[in-house]
Amino acid sequence: MTLSGIFIVLMGVYCIYLKQNKSPLSKSLFNLHLGAIVSTVLYNISLITTNLLSAYFITSLYYISIHFLVILLTDFIFIFTEMSSSPKYKKFIKVFNKIWLYVFFVDSFILILNPFFHHEFELSRLYINHNVFLCWNAKYFWMFNIHLYLCFALSAVIFGILLVKIIKANRFYKSKYISVFAVFLITLAVNIIFLKSKTNLDFSVLFYSVFSIICSCFTLVTIPRNIQNEMLKQLSDNINIGIFCFNLERKCIYSNTTAKKFFLAKDEILNELKSLLALRKDFVKRNIEIKQDDKTLTLAEEFSYLLDSQKKAYGYILKLNDITEELYKASEELFDSTHDALTGLLTRDAFYSETEKILKSDPNSQYYMICTNIKNFKLVNDLFGSEKGDEFLKEFAKKLKNTQSKTILTGRITGDRFAILINKTEVDEIDALQKIKELEKFTVSLNYKLHIFVGIYKITDINENVSSMFDKAALAIKNISENYSVNVAYYDNDMLSILKKNHEVINAFDDALNNNHFKMYLQPQVRCSDEKVVGAEALVRWETEKGAIHSPASFIKILEDNGLIHELDKFIWEKAVQLLQKWQLLGIDHHISVNVSTRDFYLIPLYETFTSLVKKYGIPPQKLKLEITETALVHDLKRHKKIITDLQKFGFTIEMDDFGSGYSSLTILKNISINILKIDMMFLSKTKHKERSKKILESVIKMAQKLGIKIIVEGVEDKEQAEFLKNLNCDFFQGYLYSKPITVANFESNYISKTNISGGTR
Ligand code: C2E
Ligand code: CA
Ligand code: CA
Repeated sequence: MTLSGIFIVLMGVYCIYLKQNKSPLSKSLFNLHLGAIVSTVLYNISLITTNLLSAYFITSLYYISIHFLVILLTDFIFIFTEMSSSPKYKKFIKVFNKIWLYVFFVDSFILILNPFFHHEFELSRLYINHNVFLCWNAKYFWMFNIHLYLCFALSAVIFGILLVKIIKANRFYKSKYISVFAVFLITLAVNIIFLKSKTNLDFSVLFYSVFSIICSCFTLVTIPRNIQNEMLKQLSDNINIGIFCFNLERKCIYSNTTAKKFFLAKDEILNELKSLLALRKDFVKRNIEIKQDDKTLTLAEEFSYLLDSQKKAYGYILKLNDITEELYKASEELFDSTHDALTGLLTRDAFYSETEKILKSDPNSQYYMICTNIKNFKLVNDLFGSEKGDEFLKEFAKKLKNTQSKTILTGRITGDRFAILINKTEVDEIDALQKIKELEKFTVSLNYKLHIFVGIYKITDINENVSSMFDKAALAIKNISENYSVNVAYYDNDMLSILKKNHEVINAFDDALNNNHFKMYLQPQVRCSDEKVVGAEALVRWETEKGAIHSPASFIKILEDNGLIHELDKFIWEKAVQLLQKWQLLGIDHHISVNVSTRDFYLIPLYETFTSLVKKYGIPPQKLKLEITETALVHDLKRHKKIITDLQKFGFTIEMDDFGSGYSSLTILKNISINILKIDMMFLSKTKHKERSKKILESVIKMAQKLGIKIIVEGVEDKEQAEFLKNLNCDFFQGYLYSKPITVANFESNYISKTNISGGTR
């Protein structure tokens, strides 16, 4: 009884502890303990009760409590084996519990009737020394077996479940089931021994308590801890971080498998610890390098103190992470993000930021920003395909980098534009340029000689935006003329103002066109034979709102370069045709020559434009003469020749403007039948050899006459020139000698009889 008392107290205390834990396992353990306490208490009371009827009732209740205890144990086993949380068994458990509850009630009912009918057991007093009551002696009848077998059946279910679990469960969990199985087996065995031995005192009751407590220990403490330890060991061995733990005496008390891989020798790790302790810091994070099989590994090292719950140090922990691969990948990624995939040179952004760093690191040196541009590189793509173009760029970039010393920064800014930064104190820029120029030789291997243009900007302010430095070097290239013998240009500040001017023109263009700021001026064209004005050349002027008049030289080229010239030309052509229509109505026979820019051939359908224009205003095409410069005919001869002959067939007169200023004027004469040749007097007179010039002019005129081509000479400024041309039987003149380009109103009042004019068209 004393022993029972001790167990009851122990279990009671444990129950209080279990109550705090809300997990289903703790709850069921709590119920189990409570059941065990009730059974033990009932048994002890049954022992000391002296009244026979009370003894009968309490003993019945004791057996009922035992049955209930086994039910609680089943419930615990369901939770312990995790069957209750598995959806597979949930329904089974529910049905099972329901059925067994009925069974339990039947058993309890039969047991509770025993005090009246004595059908299960009979009690008799047991005395010591004949008159001292010791305890009750029970005699069992076969009906009691119902109770016994029911409890055994339930126990069998428990054994069954545990056995299956023992067989199926993982190594870690096997022990947890085996231990509970074993304790339960012992308890049951003791119980059976008691029943068989027919002793009066049932010691197996004590085993219920022992069983409950052991179950608790195993399920809640020992087994989870063992599993946890095993898991932690596996985890720490499997992670890539090496862990060393030392006590305060610097003795290594723990190291995982990875850690051992990093430091093979004991001394090495101790030396490392020493060096860390020498830093006298609570926490150290740094990268270290170690040698391993000819390889150098980079380890991220983290050192700190091991602290207990009171924050008192009881050792040191050293974590080592191999970041060699990571660093390699990161450096690879950095390379990819900063280097151009095709050429391997720095990308634009990377080049700019690297340049900035260099300039800031040594601001006293003199630097040059160089921009290289391959002239007409687009042609390589068009002729050989973009794959070949890429291949060429790759090779070019490689050679470009190799021509320069290592200290030089090279980048690919866009397409075929490369940037080079040179330090004048280390590299002579003339030398560098020479080497770049030599690359042209390499382009010959492509069967297509490419010209490399180089723009140079001398960096004066290192705080200037690097992209603007490059833009200036690139801008210098724009200044390189079509004359291929010169391919290097230095940036100067005028270039920027030119650029600004270009922008101004482009920005103001649309407004000027819509608000009629562009005016058609006319320069008379005179017939040589009678010196009569027979027509005029239409020349554009830009009249601003402030009254300034800009000559075409200041904007035509800009509009051409920016693909806007056709808009202006169409505007002037329409003005010319409108005027011709007016003159036609007035019976005036004059023609007008209009200028057609080379770019117009690419920007608009010329044939359709001109034919629809004359149709719209109902004028004969012969009245509109088209001045085309020979450059338009050099490029794309086949295509342009077709346009020109189609226009001629329609009735237009084609004039070849600025004849003799290009290289291939005579070749063109051979290929296309031109109606009129326009020769610039200024062009010839500028030459030193005046006499020779005159002879050339003379033979050109004669040749044209033989070919049936008419001649008009422009730039005639003095009488002497006019006389000379007259003697050569030249057809028409145009020049300041007769008139500068003038407004339509002035032209009409000066060269058309006043009676014909009913109003001015400007
Ligand atoms: P261009 O077609 O060769 O026009 C002749 C230029 O020579 C005109 O200059 C004219 O004013 C100038 N000039 C005529 N006689 C003499 C002379 O005796 N002495 C001198 N020194 N110069 C003379 P302008 O009007 O400044 O035009 C310049 C160029 O602009 C033209 O050269 C033409 O190429 C272009 N241009 C003019 N108007 C237009 C236009 O509406 N469309 C296009 N696409 N180009 C035009
Ligand atoms: Ca012209
Ligand atoms: Ca001309």
